[in-house]
Amino acid sequence: MPPHPDQRDITDAHMHSQRESKLLSAPAEIRRAIYANIIPSQIHAFLSQGRIQLSVCLQPNLGDDCHDGREREIRGEESSQAKWARRLRSSWGPHWECEQVALAENIDLHEHCRNHIYNLLFVCKKMFLDVCDFVSENKVTNVTDLDTLQVLLQKTDELDNGLNYPWSLWESIFPGIQKLNVTLRLPLAFYRALEEDEVLVSEAGHDLSAGSATYATWAGLWSAICQLQRLRSLHIWLDHDDKSSWSVVKERLALHRVIAILAAHMQARSGEENLMHMDITFNLPKLHPRIARPDTHFVQESAPPPFIIERRIRQRNFCEEGPGGNLSVIYNPDFPIMCDLPDFLDLDINGEPNMNGEPRMTLLEVEEFERKLWEEGTDVEQLLLGGYVCF
Ligand SMILES: [Zn+2]
Repeated sequence: MPPHPDQRDITDAHMHSQRESKLLSAPAEIRRAIYANIIPSQIHAFLSQGRIQLSVCLQPNLGDDCHDGREREIRGEESSQAKWARRLRSSWGPHWECEQVALAENIDLHEHCRNHIYNLLFVCKKMFLDVCDFVSENKVTNVTDLDTLQVLLQKTDELDNGLNYPWSLWESIFPGIQKLNVTLRLPLAFYRALEEDEVLVSEAGHDLSAGSATYATWAGLWSAICQLQRLRSLHIWLDHDDKSSWSVVKERLALHRVIAILAAHMQARSGEENLMHMDITFNLPKLHPRIARPDTHFVQESAPPPFIIERRIRQRNFCEEGPGGNLSVIYNPDFPIMCDLPDFLDLDINGEPNMNGEPRMTLLEVEEFERKLWEEGTDVEQLLLGGYVCF
Protein backbone atom coordinates (compact mmCIF):
# COMPACT_ATOMS: atom_id res chain seq x y z
CA MET A 1 0.00 0.00 0.00
CA PRO A 2 1.25 3.55 -0.65
CA PRO A 3 2.31 5.30 2.52
CA HIS A 4 -0.30 7.24 4.36
CA PRO A 5 0.11 10.98 3.65
CA ASP A 6 1.31 11.60 7.17
CA GLN A 7 4.06 9.00 6.74
CA ARG A 8 5.61 10.46 3.60
CA ASP A 9 9.15 11.37 4.44
CA ILE A 10 9.12 14.43 2.20
CA THR A 11 6.50 16.05 4.35
CA ASP A 12 7.40 16.62 7.94
CA ALA A 13 10.97 17.84 7.70
CA HIS A 14 10.19 20.59 5.23
CA MET A 15 6.64 21.52 6.00
CA HIS A 16 5.30 24.36 8.07
CA SER A 17 2.55 23.26 10.46
CA GLN A 18 0.22 26.07 9.25
CA ARG A 19 -1.50 26.09 12.65
CA GLU A 20 -2.77 29.63 12.05
CA SER A 21 -4.63 28.54 8.88
CA LYS A 22 -8.32 28.27 9.64
CA LEU A 23 -8.91 26.05 6.60
CA LEU A 24 -6.11 23.60 7.38
CA SER A 25 -7.08 23.52 11.05
CA ALA A 26 -10.69 22.68 10.21
CA PRO A 27 -11.91 19.08 10.50
CA ALA A 28 -11.18 16.89 7.49
CA GLU A 29 -14.87 16.67 6.55
CA ILE A 30 -15.13 20.46 6.33
CA ARG A 31 -11.94 20.78 4.29
CA ARG A 32 -13.11 18.09 1.91
CA ALA A 33 -16.52 19.68 1.48
CA ILE A 34 -14.76 22.91 0.52
CA TYR A 35 -12.43 21.16 -1.93
CA ALA A 36 -15.40 19.31 -3.45
CA ASN A 37 -17.01 22.64 -4.26
CA ILE A 38 -13.91 23.98 -5.95
CA ILE A 39 -12.42 21.02 -7.81
CA PRO A 40 -14.37 19.45 -10.71
CA SER A 41 -15.49 15.87 -10.12
CA GLN A 42 -13.51 14.63 -13.12
CA ILE A 43 -10.15 15.86 -14.34
CA HIS A 44 -7.91 15.20 -17.32
CA ALA A 45 -4.21 14.56 -17.11
CA PHE A 46 -2.31 15.22 -20.33
CA LEU A 47 1.19 15.97 -21.51
CA SER A 48 2.10 19.44 -22.68
CA GLN A 49 5.70 20.34 -23.43
CA GLY A 50 6.90 17.31 -21.52
CA ARG A 51 4.91 18.07 -18.39
CA ILE A 52 1.77 16.56 -16.99
CA GLN A 53 -0.99 19.17 -16.95
CA LEU A 54 -4.42 19.18 -15.39
CA SER A 55 -7.66 20.30 -16.97
CA VAL A 56 -11.34 19.89 -16.33
CA CYS A 57 -13.37 17.02 -17.80
CA LEU A 58 -16.81 18.03 -19.09
CA GLN A 59 -17.92 14.45 -18.47
CA PRO A 60 -19.34 13.28 -21.78
CA ASN A 61 -21.37 10.10 -21.48
CA LEU A 62 -18.88 7.43 -22.54
CA GLY A 63 -21.39 4.70 -23.21
CA ASP A 64 -24.50 6.16 -24.80
CA ASP A 65 -25.52 5.87 -28.44
CA CYS A 66 -25.82 9.58 -29.12
CA HIS A 67 -22.19 10.48 -29.76
CA ASP A 68 -21.83 9.55 -33.41
CA GLY A 69 -20.17 12.81 -34.46
CA ARG A 70 -23.28 14.79 -35.34
CA GLU A 71 -23.22 16.42 -31.93
CA ARG A 72 -19.93 18.06 -32.96
CA GLU A 73 -21.46 19.79 -35.96
CA ILE A 74 -21.51 23.58 -35.92
CA ARG A 75 -24.90 24.88 -36.94
CA GLY A 76 -26.12 28.35 -37.77
CA GLU A 77 -24.15 31.24 -39.14
CA GLU A 78 -20.80 29.92 -37.96
CA SER A 79 -21.34 26.61 -39.75
CA SER A 80 -17.98 25.27 -40.86
CA GLN A 81 -17.20 21.88 -42.38
CA ALA A 82 -13.50 22.25 -41.63
CA LYS A 83 -14.11 23.02 -37.97
CA TRP A 84 -16.56 20.14 -37.66
CA ALA A 85 -14.02 17.87 -39.38
CA ARG A 86 -11.28 18.91 -36.93
CA ARG A 87 -13.57 18.06 -34.01
CA LEU A 88 -14.23 14.64 -35.54
CA ARG A 89 -10.49 14.03 -35.83
CA SER A 90 -9.84 14.59 -32.12
CA SER A 91 -7.71 11.83 -30.61
CA TRP A 92 -9.55 12.54 -27.35
CA GLY A 93 -12.62 10.84 -28.91
CA PRO A 94 -15.77 11.59 -26.87
CA HIS A 95 -13.68 14.03 -24.81
CA TRP A 96 -13.19 16.28 -27.87
CA GLU A 97 -14.72 19.21 -26.05
CA CYS A 98 -12.46 18.63 -23.05
CA GLU A 99 -9.53 18.79 -25.48
CA GLN A 100 -10.69 22.21 -26.65
CA VAL A 101 -10.79 23.36 -23.04
CA ALA A 102 -7.40 21.84 -22.27
CA LEU A 103 -5.80 23.42 -25.31
CA ALA A 104 -7.37 26.70 -24.27
CA GLU A 105 -9.58 27.09 -27.31
CA ASN A 106 -12.16 27.91 -24.67
CA ILE A 107 -9.83 30.13 -22.71
CA ASP A 108 -12.28 31.43 -20.13
CA LEU A 109 -13.43 28.01 -18.99
CA HIS A 110 -9.94 26.58 -19.06
CA GLU A 111 -8.42 29.39 -17.04
CA HIS A 112 -11.31 29.39 -14.61
CA CYS A 113 -11.04 25.68 -13.79
CA ARG A 114 -7.29 25.43 -14.02
CA ASN A 115 -6.68 28.42 -11.80
CA HIS A 116 -9.03 27.14 -9.15
CA ILE A 117 -7.17 23.85 -8.87
CA TYR A 118 -3.68 25.26 -9.13
CA ASN A 119 -4.32 28.17 -6.78
CA LEU A 120 -5.51 25.74 -4.18
CA LEU A 121 -2.64 23.33 -4.72
CA PHE A 122 0.10 25.87 -4.41
CA VAL A 123 -1.01 27.75 -1.31
CA CYS A 124 1.48 25.79 0.78
CA LYS A 125 2.96 22.31 1.00
CA LYS A 126 0.50 21.13 3.61
CA MET A 127 -2.48 22.13 1.50
CA PHE A 128 -0.81 20.64 -1.58
CA LEU A 129 -0.70 17.23 0.06
CA ASP A 130 -4.16 17.62 1.52
CA VAL A 131 -5.63 18.46 -1.90
CA CYS A 132 -3.64 15.70 -3.64
CA ASP A 133 -5.04 13.12 -1.24
CA PHE A 134 -8.53 14.45 -1.78
CA VAL A 135 -8.18 14.28 -5.57
CA SER A 136 -6.71 10.74 -5.44
CA GLU A 137 -9.55 9.41 -3.37
CA ASN A 138 -12.53 11.25 -4.76
CA LYS A 139 -12.02 12.40 -8.31
CA VAL A 140 -12.03 10.48 -11.58
CA THR A 141 -8.82 10.88 -13.55
CA ASN A 142 -9.16 10.72 -17.34
CA VAL A 143 -6.29 9.89 -19.66
CA THR A 144 -6.71 9.92 -23.43
CA ASP A 145 -3.28 8.93 -24.78
CA LEU A 146 -0.59 6.35 -24.18
CA ASP A 147 2.30 8.81 -23.76
CA THR A 148 0.60 10.50 -20.81
CA LEU A 149 -0.23 7.14 -19.29
CA GLN A 150 3.37 6.07 -19.63
CA VAL A 151 4.68 9.18 -17.86
CA LEU A 152 2.09 8.89 -15.12
CA LEU A 153 2.98 5.28 -14.49
CA GLN A 154 6.73 5.76 -14.40
CA LYS A 155 8.17 5.05 -11.01
CA THR A 156 9.45 8.06 -9.11
CA ASP A 157 13.08 7.06 -9.52
CA GLU A 158 12.64 6.90 -13.30
CA LEU A 159 11.30 10.42 -13.56
CA ASP A 160 13.42 13.16 -14.96
CA ASN A 161 13.24 15.70 -12.20
CA GLY A 162 14.12 18.44 -14.65
CA LEU A 163 10.69 18.04 -16.20
CA ASN A 164 8.72 17.94 -12.99
CA TYR A 165 7.99 20.16 -10.08
CA PRO A 166 10.15 19.66 -6.97
CA TRP A 167 6.88 18.72 -5.37
CA SER A 168 5.53 16.74 -8.24
CA LEU A 169 1.81 16.98 -8.56
CA TRP A 170 1.42 13.56 -10.09
CA GLU A 171 3.88 11.82 -7.86
CA SER A 172 1.54 12.88 -5.11
CA ILE A 173 -1.77 12.14 -6.79
CA PHE A 174 -1.37 9.23 -9.16
CA PRO A 175 -0.07 6.40 -6.94
CA GLY A 176 -3.15 6.75 -4.74
CA ILE A 177 -5.86 7.22 -7.36
CA GLN A 178 -8.99 5.15 -6.98
CA LYS A 179 -10.85 5.86 -10.23
CA LEU A 180 -9.20 5.87 -13.65
CA ASN A 181 -10.83 6.30 -17.07
CA VAL A 182 -8.64 5.41 -20.03
CA THR A 183 -10.07 6.59 -23.36
CA LEU A 184 -8.01 5.56 -26.37
CA ARG A 185 -8.86 6.39 -29.98
CA LEU A 186 -5.82 4.83 -31.57
CA PRO A 187 -4.78 4.36 -35.21
CA LEU A 188 -6.11 1.17 -36.78
CA ALA A 189 -2.49 0.23 -37.55
CA PHE A 190 -1.79 0.13 -33.80
CA TYR A 191 -4.40 -2.60 -33.29
CA ARG A 192 -3.13 -4.45 -36.37
CA ALA A 193 0.39 -4.42 -34.89
CA LEU A 194 -0.95 -5.75 -31.57
CA GLU A 195 -2.62 -8.62 -33.43
CA GLU A 196 0.62 -9.51 -35.23
CA ASP A 197 2.67 -9.30 -32.05
CA GLU A 198 0.20 -11.45 -30.17
CA VAL A 199 0.61 -14.19 -32.76
CA LEU A 200 4.42 -13.98 -32.47
CA VAL A 201 4.28 -14.07 -28.66
CA SER A 202 1.90 -17.00 -28.71
CA GLU A 203 4.15 -18.92 -31.14
CA ALA A 204 7.12 -18.21 -28.84
CA GLY A 205 5.35 -19.88 -25.91
CA HIS A 206 4.07 -16.57 -24.49
CA ASP A 207 7.53 -15.05 -24.36
CA LEU A 208 6.66 -11.33 -24.38
CA SER A 209 10.06 -10.41 -25.78
CA ALA A 210 9.01 -12.01 -29.09
CA GLY A 211 6.78 -8.97 -29.68
CA SER A 212 7.75 -5.47 -30.77
CA ALA A 213 8.82 -2.59 -28.51
CA THR A 214 5.34 -1.09 -28.88
CA TYR A 215 3.82 -4.34 -27.70
CA ALA A 216 6.17 -4.43 -24.68
CA THR A 217 5.20 -0.84 -23.81
CA TRP A 218 1.49 -1.67 -24.16
CA ALA A 219 1.81 -4.70 -21.89
CA GLY A 220 3.94 -2.73 -19.43
CA LEU A 221 1.31 -0.01 -19.12
CA TRP A 222 -1.43 -2.41 -18.08
CA SER A 223 0.88 -4.19 -15.67
CA ALA A 224 1.78 -0.81 -14.15
CA ILE A 225 -1.89 0.10 -13.80
CA CYS A 226 -2.34 -3.10 -11.82
CA GLN A 227 0.31 -1.83 -9.40
CA LEU A 228 -1.94 1.09 -8.40
CA GLN A 229 -2.86 -0.45 -5.09
CA ARG A 230 -5.84 1.74 -4.32
CA LEU A 231 -7.43 1.60 -7.75
CA ARG A 232 -10.97 0.30 -7.51
CA SER A 233 -12.57 1.48 -10.76
CA LEU A 234 -10.97 1.14 -14.19
CA HIS A 235 -12.99 2.16 -17.25
CA ILE A 236 -11.40 1.41 -20.62
CA TRP A 237 -12.96 3.01 -23.72
CA LEU A 238 -11.43 1.91 -27.00
CA ASP A 239 -11.83 2.68 -30.68
CA HIS A 240 -9.71 3.16 -33.78
CA ASP A 241 -9.72 6.31 -35.87
CA ASP A 242 -10.39 4.76 -39.26
CA LYS A 243 -13.71 4.94 -41.08
CA SER A 244 -13.81 1.17 -41.55
CA SER A 245 -15.83 -0.91 -39.09
CA TRP A 246 -14.49 -1.44 -35.55
CA SER A 247 -15.02 -5.14 -36.18
CA VAL A 248 -12.04 -5.30 -38.55
CA VAL A 249 -10.04 -5.41 -35.30
CA LYS A 250 -9.77 -8.99 -34.08
CA GLU A 251 -10.56 -8.22 -30.46
CA ARG A 252 -9.50 -11.58 -29.10
CA LEU A 253 -6.01 -11.10 -30.55
CA ALA A 254 -5.50 -7.35 -30.20
CA LEU A 255 -6.84 -7.19 -26.64
CA HIS A 256 -5.55 -10.57 -25.50
CA ARG A 257 -2.62 -9.15 -23.53
CA VAL A 258 -4.53 -6.45 -21.67
CA ILE A 259 -7.26 -8.92 -20.73
CA ALA A 260 -4.75 -11.55 -19.62
CA ILE A 261 -2.85 -9.05 -17.46
CA LEU A 262 -6.00 -7.64 -15.85
CA ALA A 263 -7.51 -11.09 -15.33
CA ALA A 264 -4.35 -12.35 -13.62
CA HIS A 265 -4.31 -9.27 -11.43
CA MET A 266 -7.93 -9.66 -10.43
CA GLN A 267 -7.31 -13.28 -9.59
CA ALA A 268 -4.39 -12.25 -7.37
CA ARG A 269 -6.44 -9.51 -5.73
CA SER A 270 -9.23 -11.89 -4.87
CA GLY A 271 -6.81 -13.82 -2.67
CA GLU A 272 -5.51 -10.73 -0.85
CA GLU A 273 -7.68 -9.54 1.99
CA ASN A 274 -5.96 -6.15 2.17
CA LEU A 275 -6.56 -5.27 -1.46
CA MET A 276 -9.78 -3.66 -2.63
CA HIS A 277 -11.90 -5.19 -5.32
CA MET A 278 -11.44 -3.49 -8.68
CA ASP A 279 -14.33 -2.98 -11.13
CA ILE A 280 -13.14 -3.17 -14.72
CA THR A 281 -15.38 -2.12 -17.58
CA PHE A 282 -14.53 -2.15 -21.27
CA ASN A 283 -16.57 0.07 -23.55
CA LEU A 284 -16.24 -1.02 -27.19
CA PRO A 285 -18.16 -0.28 -30.40
CA LYS A 286 -20.97 -2.59 -31.44
CA LEU A 287 -19.89 -5.58 -33.46
CA HIS A 288 -20.80 -5.90 -37.13
CA PRO A 289 -22.70 -9.19 -37.69
CA ARG A 290 -21.10 -9.64 -41.11
CA ILE A 291 -17.53 -9.46 -39.75
CA ALA A 292 -17.49 -10.48 -36.08
CA ARG A 293 -17.02 -14.14 -35.19
CA PRO A 294 -16.91 -15.89 -31.81
CA ASP A 295 -13.33 -17.04 -32.35
CA THR A 296 -12.03 -13.54 -33.10
CA HIS A 297 -14.42 -11.25 -31.23
CA PHE A 298 -16.07 -11.03 -27.83
CA VAL A 299 -19.55 -11.72 -29.09
CA GLN A 300 -22.27 -11.69 -26.49
CA GLU A 301 -21.99 -15.35 -25.60
CA SER A 302 -18.20 -15.32 -25.46
CA ALA A 303 -17.29 -12.22 -23.42
CA PRO A 304 -14.58 -13.14 -20.95
CA PRO A 305 -15.72 -13.08 -17.35
CA PRO A 306 -15.25 -11.30 -14.97
CA PHE A 307 -15.05 -8.20 -17.16
CA ILE A 308 -18.02 -6.14 -18.21
CA ILE A 309 -18.03 -5.31 -21.91
CA GLU A 310 -20.42 -2.54 -22.85
CA ARG A 311 -21.14 -1.85 -26.51
CA ARG A 312 -21.98 1.51 -28.02
CA ILE A 313 -22.85 2.95 -31.42
CA ARG A 314 -19.63 4.15 -32.92
CA GLN A 315 -18.69 7.52 -34.39
CA ARG A 316 -20.25 7.65 -37.88
CA ASN A 317 -18.90 10.93 -39.23
CA PHE A 318 -15.19 11.26 -39.99
CA CYS A 319 -12.68 13.87 -41.01
CA GLU A 320 -11.22 13.46 -44.48
CA GLU A 321 -8.23 15.44 -45.62
CA GLY A 322 -8.02 16.33 -49.30
CA PRO A 323 -4.78 16.52 -51.34
CA GLY A 324 -4.51 20.25 -50.67
CA GLY A 325 -4.99 19.80 -46.93
CA ASN A 326 -8.64 20.84 -47.05
CA LEU A 327 -10.81 19.10 -44.47
CA SER A 328 -14.27 17.71 -45.10
CA VAL A 329 -16.72 15.45 -43.31
CA ILE A 330 -17.69 12.04 -44.60
CA TYR A 331 -20.47 9.79 -43.31
CA ASN A 332 -19.60 6.11 -42.94
CA PRO A 333 -21.76 4.32 -40.38
CA ASP A 334 -20.79 1.09 -38.66
CA PHE A 335 -23.50 -1.39 -37.58
CA PRO A 336 -26.38 -0.70 -37.21
CA ILE A 337 -26.92 1.50 -40.25
CA MET A 338 -30.72 1.39 -40.46
CA CYS A 339 -31.23 3.43 -37.34
CA ASP A 340 -30.26 6.57 -39.25
CA LEU A 341 -33.16 6.23 -41.67
CA PRO A 342 -36.01 8.39 -40.41
CA ASP A 343 -38.62 6.49 -42.40
CA PHE A 344 -37.45 3.22 -40.97
CA LEU A 345 -38.40 4.21 -37.49
CA ASP A 346 -41.96 4.64 -38.76
CA LEU A 347 -42.20 0.90 -39.32
CA ASP A 348 -43.67 -1.38 -36.71
CA ILE A 349 -41.58 -4.05 -35.04
CA ASN A 350 -42.37 -6.53 -37.84
CA GLY A 351 -40.92 -4.16 -40.41
CA GLU A 352 -44.39 -3.31 -41.76
CA PRO A 353 -45.48 0.29 -42.49
CA ASN A 354 -46.86 1.78 -39.33
CA MET A 355 -50.47 2.52 -40.26
CA ASN A 356 -52.20 2.45 -36.93
CA GLY A 357 -50.23 4.83 -34.76
CA GLU A 358 -48.33 2.09 -32.95
CA PRO A 359 -45.07 3.20 -31.34
CA ARG A 360 -42.10 3.44 -33.68
CA MET A 361 -39.37 0.85 -33.48
CA THR A 362 -36.88 1.47 -30.76
CA LEU A 363 -33.19 1.64 -31.54
CA LEU A 364 -32.77 -1.84 -30.10
CA GLU A 365 -35.56 -3.22 -32.26
CA VAL A 366 -34.05 -1.68 -35.41
CA GLU A 367 -30.70 -3.16 -34.44
CA GLU A 368 -32.13 -6.64 -33.94
CA PHE A 369 -34.05 -6.40 -37.20
CA GLU A 370 -30.90 -5.41 -39.10
CA ARG A 371 -28.82 -8.05 -37.35
CA LYS A 372 -31.26 -10.71 -38.48
CA LEU A 373 -30.96 -9.53 -42.08
CA TRP A 374 -27.16 -9.68 -41.99
CA GLU A 375 -27.23 -13.11 -40.35
CA GLU A 376 -29.59 -14.36 -43.05
CA GLY A 377 -26.99 -13.30 -45.61
CA THR A 378 -28.62 -10.07 -46.76
CA ASP A 379 -26.20 -7.24 -47.57
CA VAL A 380 -28.06 -4.41 -45.88
CA GLU A 381 -25.73 -1.76 -47.29
CA GLN A 382 -26.47 -2.88 -50.83
CA LEU A 383 -30.18 -2.96 -50.10
CA LEU A 384 -30.11 0.57 -48.82
CA LEU A 385 -27.99 1.74 -51.74
CA GLY A 386 -30.66 0.27 -53.99
CA GLY A 387 -33.15 2.50 -52.25
CA TYR A 388 -35.45 -0.19 -50.96
CA VAL A 389 -35.65 -2.77 -48.20
CA CYS A 390 -37.15 -6.21 -48.67
CA PHE A 391 -39.05 -7.67 -45.73
ZN1 LIG B 1 -13.35 14.79 -20.55
